[in-house]
Amino acid sequence: MKAAPEAQKRLLDLAELDAGLDRLRHRRRTLPELAEIDDLSKNLARAATEAIAAETEAGDLAREQTKAEADVDAVRLRADRDQKRLDSGQVTSPKDLASLQSEIASLQRRQGDLEEVVLEIMERREAADARVETVKGRRDEVAATLAVAEGRRDGAFAEIDKEAAELQSRRPAITADIPDDLLALYGKLREQSGVGAAMLHGGRCLGCRTSLSIADLNRIRAAAHDEVVRCEECRRILVRTAESGL
Ligand SMILES: [Zn+2]
Repeated sequence: MKAAPEAQKRLLDLAELDAGLDRLRHRRRTLPELAEIDDLSKNLARAATEAIAAETEAGDLAREQTKAEADVDAVRLRADRDQKRLDSGQVTSPKDLASLQSEIASLQRRQGDLEEVVLEIMERREAADARVETVKGRRDEVAATLAVAEGRRDGAFAEIDKEAAELQSRRPAITADIPDDLLALYGKLREQSGVGAAMLHGGRCLGCRTSLSIADLNRIRAAAHDEVVRCEECRRILVRTAESGL
């Protein structure tokens, strides 16, 4: 392949610009905020699950309390009814009176027991409600920290994208100076190894940092100025400049 030496030198400008774009892409991929956001998202999912579990437990206990209170009410109603019968003076037989009094006493004991149950549920419910508040508080805290990290990430992304757009906008002016076939070769090499062209500097390929052999240097010296030469080591396009050591 042949290309004017000036066009070949433009490859170095293009390679520098593309390296800048690569650095920006790398920075975008490896922003510390990304790992932080990943961790926080996992924490948030865990906290949200805990909050749901705590709320479910508190809800179950609230229903349990309602049911236990209804049990107390039912027993109290029966005891009240019996007490009214007793107070009405309608029950006169000593046997029936004794039976009624015994039932009232039994209902009162039962009511006391059931009230104990209500109290016990209320205590558990209080603890569960407190846990709901704690867990929801933690969840909200993680969500807020996550939102801040996402904001930082978006800010960094915007800055990187702005720099990338600026570099990208300078690219056409450079590629316009490079013939299509050379540009295509550069593009193919860039796809393969990340860098399409490198300077030959002091007898070394700056792409792979290899010092060229005497034979290779002699071959390059003998090549026409418009010949596109390649590094034998890394196959990149070697661009000759005044500093090539030829
Ligand atoms: Zn090389």
